[in-house]
Amino acid sequence: MHIAIYKCPPKLSVGQVTEAVRFYASTLMNRQLVKNLTVKVFFKDDGVDGLCNTDDDLAKPRVFALQINPKLSVKAMLTVLAHEMVHVKQFATGESKQYERTPYVTKFRGVMVNVSTTDYWDLPWEIDAYGRELGLYVRLMEHLRNVKKKANKT
Ligand SMILES: [Zn+2]
Repeated sequence: MHIAIYKCPPKLSVGQVTEAVRFYASTLMNRQLVKNLTVKVFFKDDGVDGLCNTDDDLAKPRVFALQINPKLSVKAMLTVLAHEMVHVKQFATGESKQYERTPYVTKFRGVMVNVSTTDYWDLPWEIDAYGRELGLYVRLMEHLRNVKKKANKT
C-alpha cells in the first residue's frame, strides 16, 4: 500500500497517521486488496470533519484522497480517519458503486440508493461508517499500546 500524508498537524506525527491508515486498512480489507491501494491523507480545514474521494476508475477504484480537518482533537481526527477508511473499504471492495452517468445514485450492497432523496443519516454507507469508526479507533489504541510494549522489550 502506498500512503502519503500532506500537512500533518503538529499534534499528530506522519508516523502515527501512516500506522493508523495501515491498521484500519488491514482490519477492514484482505491483504491482497490492501497491497494495491494508494491512500493520500490531506489535512485541511474546509469546514467539514472529513471526506473520501477517488479520481480513479469508478468501477474499481484503488487510489483514494482523504481529507481530515486538522482543527479537530487527536481522538476526533483518528476517528474521522477510521470513518473515511470505511468508505475506502466500501469502494475498493465494490460494496459501494458510483456511476458516472447518474452521480446521484449509488449502489450499496446491491441496492440502488438515491442520494438526492435520502437523508444523510439514513445513507446505508454512512450507517456502516459511523457504526464502525469507534471500534476501529479503540482497536487502534490497543494496537499502538502493544507496538509500544514490544518496542520497550527489545
Ligand atoms: Zn461518511
